[in-house]
Order: sequence, then C-alpha cells, then structure tokens
Amino acid sequence: MYLVSPKRVFKGNKAWSKALPEISKLTKSPLLLGRSNSTAYLRKIILQDLNLNNVKAITETLQFDCCEDDLDRLCNISSSNHCDAIIAAGGGKVLDAGKILAHHLSIPCITVPLSASTCAGWTALGNIYTKQGQFIKDITLESCPEILVLDYSFIQTAPKITLTSGIADSLAKWYESSITSSSNRDGLVQQAIQISRVLRDQLFIDSQEALAEPSEDNIAWRNVVEGNSLTAGLIGGIGGEKCRTAAAHAIHNAITQLKPKNKPLHGEIVGVGILIQLKLEQIKNDNKLANQSIKQLVQFMKKLNLPTTIGQLGIDIFDNNNLQKIADFTCRKESEIHFLPFPVKPDDIVNTISIFESQKISI
Ligand SMILES: [Zn+2]
Repeated sequence: MYLVSPKRVFKGNKAWSKALPEISKLTKSPLLLGRSNSTAYLRKIILQDLNLNNVKAITETLQFDCCEDDLDRLCNISSSNHCDAIIAAGGGKVLDAGKILAHHLSIPCITVPLSASTCAGWTALGNIYTKQGQFIKDITLESCPEILVLDYSFIQTAPKITLTSGIADSLAKWYESSITSSSNRDGLVQQAIQISRVLRDQLFIDSQEALAEPSEDNIAWRNVVEGNSLTAGLIGGIGGEKCRTAAAHAIHNAITQLKPKNKPLHGEIVGVGILIQLKLEQIKNDNKLANQSIKQLVQFMKKLNLPTTIGQLGIDIFDNNNLQKIADFTCRKESEIHFLPFPVKPDDIVNTISIFESQKISI
C-alpha cells in the first residue's frame, strides 16, 4: 500500500481556523496531546477553539520522549475517556506519539506541528525511543494523518533552532536517497529523489533569509517551513522506504544511545550524520565528489549555527568507549546503514569517524 500523504492538508495563515469545521466533523471528543511548557499557551488556544466548535477535548502531555511507557499510559486514558481522535500539537516526538496512539486505537489522527523541525506531521511513520531519548525502532503505520494543519502563526513562534534542525533533516533526504536508490529503476523512486535534490537546492537558497526574518510575510521563510514540514514528508511518501533513510539516520540512532547531555534535536544529529556518511562514501566507495560536498555542507551548516562534529553534539568519542558504541549500533543487523550500496562494518565506522572528527575541514 502506498501511504503518500495526509487526507487533507491546511497550510498558511489562519490554517487552524480554516481546518476547524473539518475537525469538528471528524471528532467530538478527542485527546489533545502536547508536551512543552513553552507551547502550552498555543494548546490553550487550540482547546478554546475546539470548545467553541462543540468539540470537547481532554488534554494530556507527553512526559518523556515518544516511549512505550508514555504510549501505554495515554492509550489507557484515551480508551477510558472514549476519545474518538487524537490531536497532536507539538514537535516531532509529540506528532509521532499522536500518530502511534491513533494507530493503536484505530481512530483518526490530526497533526498540528508547532515547529518546522520535522516532517512528522505528514508521514505514516513513528519512532519509538526509551524514556531517556535513545532510539529503539521506527514503525510504519496504517495511514498518514487524517488532517495536517500547518498554521504559520503557530510555527512562527517556535525557536530558530527548530527550523535549522528541520533544515538539516530535510537535507538528509537527498544525501540518503541519492546514494541508496540512484540505480533503482522505479520511476516514482527516481522522481522522489529529484524532488529531494530540488528541496536541497531551495534550502541552500532560502534558509539564511528565512532565519533572518521568521515571518509568514517572508516567502523564504514560508518555503523553508513548507519544505521541512510538507515536501520532506512527500518525498518519503512517494519514494517509499529506501528514499527515507540510510547512514545519516543510522548514525543519528546510534548517537542517541549515548544520551548526549544537551539533548540535541533530531535534525542537529542527522546533520552531523550526513557529513559522516559523505566521509564514508569517500573512503569506502571512492566517491571523488564527497569531499567537495562536505565542504559545501559544512560551510552552509556553520552559517546556520548547526553542529558539524560529534564533539559539538556534546559527546567525546574517545571517552567511555563511545566511538565503538556508535560503530556497533550503527552496524547492527536491522540498521539502515545496510541500504548503502557497499558493505559497512563497525571498523569502517570507527575509522571514518576518527578521521572525520580529527580533521579540520577548511572552508
Ligand atoms: Zn529524520
């Protein structure tokens, strides 16, 4: 089955108000799920608007990352309150939790991203973590969300770091899909790869202008927000599994195992993962252009204040056998690293990261 897109997408100014009549047709007693204190006032607005439209929501917050404990607890609350839909309003982990909950309960999910940090509002995928944020697995759901509401006035309030993190995550679409699927003869896969290249180029062009003025009046900002929240999801929807992830996300998943102190955002880790993937391509696959790509990306990421080394993510690879731990988790049997068109063993990861972290990349 192809899970290409949400059934309905509302985007732009006042998208939330425009979506309300549709939402009130779909649900009368939803669970409104959120997380951070900083977005509590937005969820309050959402709750009030739902009330005015005769939708009686109960509210709950995610206590940890999207983990089994949270999901079990929320599943019980939703069941005992006879919730007929989940409205997930927040960042990637809240959106993932909302989608997985709705999937377990066989009720519709409405996603309301409150930042442009991921395409989780669009996709039929969810990541499960431990309570401490260590990646466990991703799961494919039965459908994309019923309704996605991308309201600029909500997104505009999010910290800049969520946008830059989302940019790095969106860039990964091109770097991961082009290496894993370039020889795939499926037309849809090829088209998805080309969309990811156009998205990358657009992010190169628009990101700095977007960050300088995060406003719905700024076309560059709108392009970046929509690229991160919509197009990145569409690429995975059209291209399928192999268009989604490869080494950059495999390395992300491994780095989360070490519980970095400052808890970098998903895309911040993925961005470093892209650079390590390119280094791996250079060393293992004799990719002559990889070094050029690394220089181009590092330059871009530095302008956006994104981390460009594992050290900058708050992890000393030489401490506590960390490098070996990253290498072993990256190469575990079920890892996406094995989608690469060349074999990768833990020693290759150790070698690549050692070179990468000790190298001063000159711009
Ligand atoms: Zn990602």
